[in-house]
Amino acid sequence: MVLGAGYAGLGAAKRAARRLPRARVTLVNASGLFVERVRLHQLAAGQRLPELPLTGLLQGTGIDLVVARVTGIDLATRTVTLDGPPHRIGYDMLVYALGSAAELDAVPGVREHAHTLATADEAARLRRRLAESREVTVVGGGLTGIEAATEFASTRPDLRVSLLSGGPIGPGLSVRARGHLHRAFSRMGIAVREHAPVAKVGEAGLLLEDGQEIAGETVVWAAGFRVPDLAAAAGLATDEEGRMIVDDTLRSVSHPDVLGIGDAAAPGRGGRPARMACQTGLPMGLYAGEAAADLLAGRTPRRARYRYVWQNISLGRHDGVTQFTRADDSPLDAVLTGRASAAFKEAITRGTVWVMRHPVPIPG
Ligand SMILES: Cc1cc2nc3c(=O)[nH]c(=O)nc-3n(C[C@H](O)[C@H](O)[C@H](O)COP(=O)(O)OP(=O)(O)OC[C@H]3O[C@@H](n4cnc5c(N)ncnc54)[C@H](O)[C@@H]3O)c2cc1C
Repeated sequence: MVLGAGYAGLGAAKRAARRLPRARVTLVNASGLFVERVRLHQLAAGQRLPELPLTGLLQGTGIDLVVARVTGIDLATRTVTLDGPPHRIGYDMLVYALGSAAELDAVPGVREHAHTLATADEAARLRRRLAESREVTVVGGGLTGIEAATEFASTRPDLRVSLLSGGPIGPGLSVRARGHLHRAFSRMGIAVREHAPVAKVGEAGLLLEDGQEIAGETVVWAAGFRVPDLAAAAGLATDEEGRMIVDDTLRSVSHPDVLGIGDAAAPGRGGRPARMACQTGLPMGLYAGEAAADLLAGRTPRRARYRYVWQNISLGRHDGVTQFTRADDSPLDAVLTGRASAAFKEAITRGTVWVMRHPVPIPG
């Protein structure tokens, strides 16, 4: 049984079903649609995105899709409880791939006053709000904040866009990549403020830690994600953020009949957890599908090996920064920018959906 049909879980279910044609593979997901989370800033900016029903992506696989929200996992009886029919399902092998959500309790007021774009519903709500706004402040200097601010500014030149960050913007990027970012911000008229940690979000703006108040009509909180608490509540070993700790075959270090993948899992790489990205979730999903099939057939699963290659950041539809990285995700001096980077990212994003339709074998 696979919980979560995002980049990680959908790939895992399809791979396991292909490897074990006689096994029953069940995929549980809160919605009947596959959500391309990497495009949610486009949705919020007012662009149209195609709908991707899971039934279409699962056609011909024999996988049972259950559309319901997981409310609990009972490790002793190997059952999962759901908020809708069939309410309870048993499993032999579980793959935990419930992804991540917006961090709403980072500072007071985010939950009540800020908008987020971690789910399709949140992005749709923000889209409605932006349609009536003249001004937006995006909080978060990571990749999501950068992509959101530039998408809003390039899609809506009439909108005043600010980008505010507690530290530097694009902290994991090279000097060349950051130079390109800042040139793009200034070309798009985005007001940028770094090293300005937010203490509180209010109805009419932000309070900074240094006591300064900043007026803001619409605040978008893009400064961090949190994971569901179901793994910790079930008694699985988790890190301090609630991510399920897995070994190098993606099995839980406390319960080896549960595999953990994607944003919701923490595979140690030299002590450093993997970056929350479909770049990590997707290969982890394919490995987990293989590992589940091996374990059910009584074989020892292979070690999951993956490396980072790039960080691909869109700056609207016609500009971007591709930061090439070492295997450990640290930046090289090699950077692709402009239309070439934007086209490259679009090709990768489309390729990701292609892989979701036809999961490819894992090399080696
Ligand atoms: C705006 C934005 C831009 C991004 N851009 C990039 C990018 O350019 N490159 C990149 O690599 N990453 C990017 N990311 C991050 C990337 O989207 C995530 O790392 C990726 O989605 C993680 O995949 P996943 O399968 O672990 O989780 P998800 O894709 O979140 O899938 C989890 C699934 O589980 C379901 N689920 C959750 N809880 C329950 C429950 N209780 N019951 C049933 N189902 C449940 C969800 O509905 C969802 O379908 C971006 C994220 C955002 C929000």
